[in-house]
Amino acid sequence: MKKNIFLSFDVEEFDIPAEYGLKISKDKQFETSLEGLHMILKLLDSFNIRVTMFTTATVALRNRDLIKRISETHEIASHGYDHRELTEYGIKKSKEVLEEITDKPVIGIRSPRLQKLDSSILKKYGYKYNSSENPIYLPGRYNNFFNKRIAYFDRNNILNIPASASPIIRFPLFWLAFKNLPLSIIKFFSAWTLAYDKYLNIYFHPWEFTDISGYNLPKIVKRISGNDMLNKLTNYISFLNDKAEFIKIEDFYYKKNQT
Ligand SMILES: [Zn+2]
Repeated sequence: MKKNIFLSFDVEEFDIPAEYGLKISKDKQFETSLEGLHMILKLLDSFNIRVTMFTTATVALRNRDLIKRISETHEIASHGYDHRELTEYGIKKSKEVLEEITDKPVIGIRSPRLQKLDSSILKKYGYKYNSSENPIYLPGRYNNFFNKRIAYFDRNNILNIPASASPIIRFPLFWLAFKNLPLSIIKFFSAWTLAYDKYLNIYFHPWEFTDISGYNLPKIVKRISGNDMLNKLTNYISFLNDKAEFIKIEDFYYKKNQT
């Protein structure tokens, strides 16, 4: 089996400062995300690779032309209506908004802050896959250490695709780990996981590629940002590009659904 990388970005308003009690205007939240998004698009073009952009409807509605243009190359999936608690209405409405803007079916979802989603509701509104779980123990946030680690169809026939963590010890490979650990370690565990699982599901946010060093945020969130983060990701993509093919998650779903 050919190995695949699912690289994805959660295209959302930069509301982390508000989460930590800092004031940030709505306009600034969207601008911060957009600035990083343009950097990422250039980088993806330079590698000529395809990715999935989990986008909030609020970002898409403010940037219709850009999101439509991105959808011609990459996959647009839902990241909820806005970056708050995801309701049934948000699950339904975000899909409608994104489909209207891109003129393409939207089949995937990742909930804001990886809230648990009811897969019967996802089925009701026509979603085919859900990538809203990180199968690790993250103190203070969630403990998914004993949940399924690799992709599986659930009883509603929704393909669940957890973020990648290594086999056995579940070494985390998501954005916070990437930002805070040496790249050599991330590469080592990525290569192991890719060899074992035959795919890697890794994700970031556009605002990580904007310089956010001026915000009074915890070190773990802003240890590196802007160009430093962009350089680190460039190095990582070069490393992975030799080992596997980058594909959109929807293409993985269509392949899996045939077999
Ligand atoms: Zn998010």
